[in-house]
Amino acid sequence: MPSVQTVLGPVADTELGRVMAHEHVFSLQAGTWAGSPVDAAVAALLPLREAGFGTVVDLSPYGVVGRDDDGRNVLALREVAERTGLHLVAGTAVYLESFAPAWARESGVEELAARFVSDATVGIGSTGVRAGVLGEQATGLGAVSAFEERAFRAALRAQRETGLALFTHTTHGTMAHEQLDLAVAEGADLERVVVGHLDTQLSAGLAESLLDRGALIAVDTIGKQVWDFFLAPAGPDGTDGEFAKQAFRRSDAGRADLVAGLVDRGYADRIVLAQDLTGAECWMNPDTHGRFGYRYLADVFVPMLRDRGIRDEQIETMLAVTPARLLAVA
Ligand SMILES: [Zn+2]
Repeated sequence: MPSVQTVLGPVADTELGRVMAHEHVFSLQAGTWAGSPVDAAVAALLPLREAGFGTVVDLSPYGVVGRDDDGRNVLALREVAERTGLHLVAGTAVYLESFAPAWARESGVEELAARFVSDATVGIGSTGVRAGVLGEQATGLGAVSAFEERAFRAALRAQRETGLALFTHTTHGTMAHEQLDLAVAEGADLERVVVGHLDTQLSAGLAESLLDRGALIAVDTIGKQVWDFFLAPAGPDGTDGEFAKQAFRRSDAGRADLVAGLVDRGYADRIVLAQDLTGAECWMNPDTHGRFGYRYLADVFVPMLRDRGIRDEQIETMLAVTPARLLAVA
C-alpha cells in the first residue's frame, strides 16, 4: 500500500485530504514578539481543516523561511501536526547560494546527495524526522550558480535513489527548462519533478512547454499578488549599502486564467496549488494573505476557478489527487 512519509510517520495516501503543496509554517511571524513559531503555525493552519485540507507540505530549505541551519527544528513540526490534526510533510533542500548555510556551500554534489538521502531515510539532522519530499530546491534569477547546480544535481540524485518527488524553486519562473535539462542529465523521473513558482510568469506557453516535457508544475504563490524579493540577504555581513531586489505584481485573476486555460487543455492532473505564505510578506498583500491567511486558496481562489468553468472534480484533482500521487511512495 503506497504511503506518505509525514513527520509523525507513514500515512496511507488515501488519508491526506486536500494538500497545501508548498508552504513554510515556521515563517509566519513578523517578529518574535508575536509568540512562539509553533503557536503561530497552529493558529494559522487550524482553519484549513474546515476547508477540507488534511495535509501541509513544508518545503523550507536549510537555513531559510523558518528552517534552521541544521534542520533541528523539524522536531517542532511534530507538535504542529499533533495540535492541528493535520498531516505535516517535511521537505529537505538548500536554497539559493546567497542564502545557503556554509556547510552546504562547502559540500560537493555527492556529499549533498548523501545528506538528502539520509534526511529521507534516517531523518533530518539528528531528529529522526524523515523528509517525505525533496525541495524546494532552488535556482537563481536568470542564472544557475555553480553551487546551485551542484545542489540541484544532488537533489535529483536523491530523487532517483529514494523515489521521492522533487519540488523546485524557480526564481520568478526563470531557469525552468534548465532545471529539466539537469533532471534529464541526472536520470531523474520527470513524473516526480514539480517545477515551482510557475505563476510568477503567468505564461501559458512556458507552463505547457514544461508539462510537455513530462514534468509537473506548481501554481504555488496564490495570493502573493505583490512580491518584493531579495536576491541576496540584506546586509548579510552587517554592512550598510544597497541590496539587489526584484519586485513585481502578478494578479490572482491572471493566475486563475492560467490554471483554467491549462485545465481546459487537459493538464488538470499535472498541476498542484499552494500559497507560499509567509508572515513577513502579508503586509504587501493585506487583502489576500493578510485577510484570509491559508484559507485564501479555498475561499477566494477556488471560486475564481469555478467562475472560469473549472469543475469540482478538476479542482479536487489539483488539490488532493495529484499531490497524493506525488507524495506517495511504494
Ligand atoms: Zn520558493
